[in-house]
Amino acid sequence: MVIKPKVRGFICTNAHPAGCAASVAEQIDYVRQQGDLGDGPKNVLVIGCSTGYGLASRITSAFGYGAKTLGVCFEKEPTERKTATAGWYNTAAFHQQAAQNGLYAKTLNGDAFSDEMKAQVIEQIKTDLGSVDLVIYSLASPRRTDPVSGDTFKSTLKPVGQAYTTKTYDTDKDKVHDVTLEPANDEEIHNTIKVMGGEDWERWMDFLGDAGVLAEGCKTTAYTYIGKELTWPIYGQATIGKAKEDLDRAAAAIIGKHTDKLVEANVSSLKALVTQASSAIPVMPLYISLIYKVMKEEGTHEGCIEQIFGLYTECLYGETGAVDEANRYRMDGKETNDATQAKIKALWDQVTQDNFHELSDYAGYHHEFLKLFGFDIPGVDYEADVDTAVKW
Ligand code: NAD
Repeated sequence: MVIKPKVRGFICTNAHPAGCAASVAEQIDYVRQQGDLGDGPKNVLVIGCSTGYGLASRITSAFGYGAKTLGVCFEKEPTERKTATAGWYNTAAFHQQAAQNGLYAKTLNGDAFSDEMKAQVIEQIKTDLGSVDLVIYSLASPRRTDPVSGDTFKSTLKPVGQAYTTKTYDTDKDKVHDVTLEPANDEEIHNTIKVMGGEDWERWMDFLGDAGVLAEGCKTTAYTYIGKELTWPIYGQATIGKAKEDLDRAAAAIIGKHTDKLVEANVSSLKALVTQASSAIPVMPLYISLIYKVMKEEGTHEGCIEQIFGLYTECLYGETGAVDEANRYRMDGKETNDATQAKIKALWDQVTQDNFHELSDYAGYHHEFLKLFGFDIPGVDYEADVDTAVKW
C-alpha cells in the first residue's frame, strides 16, 4: 500500500510504518551518540511506552543504559484496510532494534487502567525480570474506567472558575481566531482528576508493591506540564492542571506506602511539545508554534528524546537536577524562564491571522505533527508500496 497522511482536525488517522521506524531509529541514534551514561536502570516498566515521552523514556532506558524494558500501551494493530496506529509501528520498530542489539523488550497492548493489565504485567515481571527498578508513568488518555466502581470517566479541557477568552490557531482551517472556553463544573473537574490524576499511578505502585516486584530503591516518575501565564488558564490552572496537581499528592502517597523498599517517587515537569496528546489541547498548537520559533532562535529547542535524556542523566540518575518545592524534577526551565516567556508573550500579543506564518514556526510544528505518524521524514520513500501488516 502507498500511504499518504489522512489528517482530520488535530489527528492523523493513519500512520506510515517505514516513517515510524525512521523516527524511532533517529531517537535511538541520538541516545547512542551520547556515549557511556554510567549506572542507571536495569529493569524498567514504561506505562504508555509507544509514543511521545513514554517512547523516549523506553529508548533512553534501553539504548542509553542497556536496560530490559517492559512496555504497556493502547494501540490498534493493522487490518486489511487500515494501517496500524503510529504507536503500534513505533513499538514494532523498537522491538526490532532491541532484538538486533540483544536487548530484552516485551510490550503488552491493552488498557493500562484495568486491574487485568496490572496482573498481566506482574506475571511478566515475575517470569522474565524478577523485579523492576524504574517505573515510568506516561499515560495520556481522554477516558478511564475505574476498576473499582466500573464507571467510565471522561476528561475535559476547560478553565476552572471563570470563562477564558484567548487566541487559538485552528490547524484545520489555517485560522487564528479568538476562542471562549466556558468554565468546567465540579463534576467535570472531578472526572478529569479521575482520568489524568494520580489515582492510577498509585494503584500501579500498590499492585507492584503487593506482588513483591519492586526492587529496593525503585524509582518512579509521572510526567506533568506546568507551563506559565500564557497556558495557565487552559492548562496549569484548568481541569488538566487540577488532575496534574493530584500527581503531587500521589507521589507523596507512594513514598509513604513503600518505605520498606525506599521507593523514590517524583513528578517530572517537561516542556510543551508536539505529541498526539498536546495537539488535542486548544491553544497549544499556537503556543507551541511560537515557542518553537523563540527556542530555535535561542538554540534551546528540544524534542521528546532530548528532554527525557536530560531527565535521566541530570535528575533520575544524575546529580545536577534539583527538585522544586513540591519535590518535582524540572526539565521545563528553558521554556518557562522569564526571558523566554517574555519573547513568547511579545509574539503572542502581535500574532494575527495575517502574520501567523511569519511570526511563528508553524512549519516546524506541522512537520513535527506529521512526523508523529511517520510522515514528512527525509529519506523515507513515500511513493513506495509498503507492507502495513507489521507485527511485533
Ligand atoms: P502521547 O499521546 O504521545 O502518549 C500516550 C501514551 O499512553 C501512548 O503510549 C498510548 O498508547 C498510551 N495510552 C493511552 N491510553 C492508554 C490506556 N488506556 N492503556 C494503555 N496505554 C494507554 O502523550 P505524551 O504527550 O507523550 O504524554 C505523556 C505524558 O506526558 C502525559 O502525562 C502528559 O500530560 C505529559 N506531558 C506532555 C507534554 C506535551 O507537551 N506533550 C508536556 C509535559 C508533560
